Amino acid sequence: MTVKPHPTLIPQPGILDIAAYVGGESAIPGANRVIKLSSNENPLGPSPRATEAMTGALGKLAAYPDGGHAALRRAIGEVQGLDPARILCGNGSDECLALIAQAYAGPGDEVIHTEHGFGLYKINAQMVGATPVQVGETDLTTDVDKILAACNERTRIVFIANPNNPTGTLVGRAELARLAENLPPRALLVIDGAYAEFVRGADFDAGIGLVESRENVVVTRTYSKIHGLAALRIGWMYGPDHVIDALNRFRPPFNLNALALAAGEAAMRDVDYVERCSVLNEVWRDWLSRRLTEAGAPCTMSHANFLLADFGTRERAEAADAFLKARGLIVRRTASYGLPERLRISIGDEEGCRAVAASVAEFMTREGASA
Ligand SMILES: *Cc1c(COP(=O)(O)O)cnc(C)c1O
Repeated sequence: MTVKPHPTLIPQPGILDIAAYVGGESAIPGANRVIKLSSNENPLGPSPRATEAMTGALGKLAAYPDGGHAALRRAIGEVQGLDPARILCGNGSDECLALIAQAYAGPGDEVIHTEHGFGLYKINAQMVGATPVQVGETDLTTDVDKILAACNERTRIVFIANPNNPTGTLVGRAELARLAENLPPRALLVIDGAYAEFVRGADFDAGIGLVESRENVVVTRTYSKIHGLAALRIGWMYGPDHVIDALNRFRPPFNLNALALAAGEAAMRDVDYVERCSVLNEVWRDWLSRRLTEAGAPCTMSHANFLLADFGTRERAEAADAFLKARGLIVRRTASYGLPERLRISIGDEEGCRAVAASVAEFMTREGASA
């Protein structure tokens, strides 16, 4: 839909340059049973304790929720070993990212994101009238030297996801520290840890220690991925007190509803459930990665709950996507991330992984036969 701009009622600079975020597809016209592997959701859903807590909160919906999120911040603090005073909760981590952009960047400022970084970083920069600066990666991995080379006195925010979406790759501990250490004085490093809980046995630092030891790092996290609560919209961030104080001055006072607060607290405390989901994800990620690679669609080394599979050309990736759709399997095209020859496939449950492995193998065999 193309809408003609109004002659006098004109949005702020940058707004009409934004190409709206498009999420993973969730339905196939005409199909009544689909397996959705397009949005990196938890195929097992939330902890039963979260569902139970939410049900318990249903009787109290007439009252405003706690705008200070005290119980939820206490639970996050206890489980993660953090100071609750420096935790801020958002309506999804998307809201945390937006609040950071609103507070720290504006017209004339630059906001850095990486070549294949999460699409919302650029939108957040444009939303506040700042200039988004895209920095190249190396081997589909965040490159600290390239980011530092792109920094200048106008740089206000550097957004990176670690592990990154849609590549699944990560920056190791020492590199992350080097990035934080060498940023210009006016730049804030935002480490988006949406997939941090899925990393196992790698040289990985979620960035919490950097928040503690420095003044220029914040970490964002979400309940939408491993906690299986994407529909409730719960995110949080951990940062230095001066950042948390700034954002708390203008964030919407009741940005988390009572059901989200109740479920979020219970889900955070169910550490066994989170661990089980992370273990299972690793098992099926390794299995599916091997199968796709054997079939001729090699995957990057993913540390998250999805794989980025390489089909060689845009045409073949599109054909594979259509082939999977016809079998009720929805995956994510990555052309908008500058990766038209690939598809991002979320790690489903056993049934989902087996279905997608079989369909990709069948597709590649047919391709080979017709080539
Ligand atoms: C999914 C995702 C998020 C989560 O956003 P929510 O608003 O918490 O649902 C954040 N960052 C990245 C990189 C993601 O892939």
